[in-house]
Amino acid sequence: METPATERVTSELTEQFRGAKFDNILKCVHCGLCLDNCPTYRELGDEKDSPRGRLYLMRGLWEGELELNQDVIAPLDRCLDCRACESVCPSGVPYGELLEKTRGILLEHRKQSVKEKLARALLLKGLFRSTAALATASQLLRIYRWTGIPKLITQSFLGRILPKKFVFSQHLLPNFSGKSFKKKYADQLLEPTGGQTPKGRVGLFSGCILDVSEAEIHEASLKLLRASGYEVVVPGDQGCCGALHVHSGDRKTARTLAEKHRNSFEPRKLDRVITNAAGCGAQLKELHHLFPEAPETEIEKWKELENRTIDLLELIASESESLDQQNWNTNEVSVFYDAPCHLMHAQGVDVNPRKLIGSRPGVKLVPLPESNWCGGSAGIYTLVQPELAGSVLQRKIDSIRDTLKKHPETKILLTANPGCLYQIRAGINQAGIPLEVMHPAVFLAGRLQS
Ligand code: SF4
Ligand code: SF4
Repeated sequence: METPATERVTSELTEQFRGAKFDNILKCVHCGLCLDNCPTYRELGDEKDSPRGRLYLMRGLWEGELELNQDVIAPLDRCLDCRACESVCPSGVPYGELLEKTRGILLEHRKQSVKEKLARALLLKGLFRSTAALATASQLLRIYRWTGIPKLITQSFLGRILPKKFVFSQHLLPNFSGKSFKKKYADQLLEPTGGQTPKGRVGLFSGCILDVSEAEIHEASLKLLRASGYEVVVPGDQGCCGALHVHSGDRKTARTLAEKHRNSFEPRKLDRVITNAAGCGAQLKELHHLFPEAPETEIEKWKELENRTIDLLELIASESESLDQQNWNTNEVSVFYDAPCHLMHAQGVDVNPRKLIGSRPGVKLVPLPESNWCGGSAGIYTLVQPELAGSVLQRKIDSIRDTLKKHPETKILLTANPGCLYQIRAGINQAGIPLEVMHPAVFLAGRLQS
């Protein structure tokens, strides 16, 4: 007799969960300490949309107790993967790893709409994997910006009559450069500035969208690294980190991208791999999660590369002596710092960037009460969960507006992840708040005079 379809799916699912080394889920003791730190629980007030609730759903699938249906899939889809729950969990539940593995397994079993399939094929498997396609898209979007249409839509009456989602997408548009940063510097050896003896050689990771947009972020990173005494190489054959793929469950493409990353950076014998995008950094520090069945020797190789990977701010904060010897602009300026989730929660880097920024001459770091809450960007979350992303962002914008009323001297908000930068900048511009949003590297390099 043939096995019924639901039973077949359930047993295949259970088998896949077993193969994915899911035992860490048992660390959850259901204490609930994570609930009040979860943005989606704060918005929706439903246990299923909390970390504990989602772990319950994942465990049910792992143990074969739950059937795969929309009641299970929807709360897991609504998770931002911000990992704020991990930072407060006393049992050390690796929530992000469990969620990402679950999404990978579910993608193989759930129904996808034609729109979703098309988006995955065009964006995740196509655009983000091709430097040439990204540069062409960047060029086209640069021309679109140049026509003034986005400005017309966001700053005229059109902004009030066109669909909100569309208007917000115009605010979200990055500043595209039209060309690839890694191709500009491909494999040149960029020496430390000021005649310093090199203290090591580092490779700068340039990413996918960031490789063709907001060019000043990578340029500023080069300036800071060289001023800190490092030789810098920008590998010309590097690619995307795969974070967007992992967050959306496409682990197969993410594995291909991980191999490409290793083939590009490993042979260059670098002391450090530098990232200036928190989401990419978190992914590049956890590549071995993609290969749960690899032999231990192989896992060790991945970990060796991961351990050499470091966020730009974390590295240069430890080099503050070299930086202190440089000439800094001493004009007084007040700034906010908004902590990207994937820097603070996934990489555990929070104190050092704040210290580094706040200790520069003339800089006053104004505390921002909700700076450790997600702003709703979360990879492609804004595109797939626009309503919830909107309400999460709104809380952030309200908090910025309220704090700015008490500290009107603040002119700049700093955030070290491109997704957060686009999202918060869009929210601030839409709300007409007079603040400039920039990456800390751009801010610091702009104040470096030598
Ligand atoms: S994930 Fe951690 S904090 Fe949340 S309920 Fe489980 S043990 Fe408690
Ligand atoms: S990752 Fe973020 S949104 Fe998801 S359960 Fe944890 S705290 Fe909530």
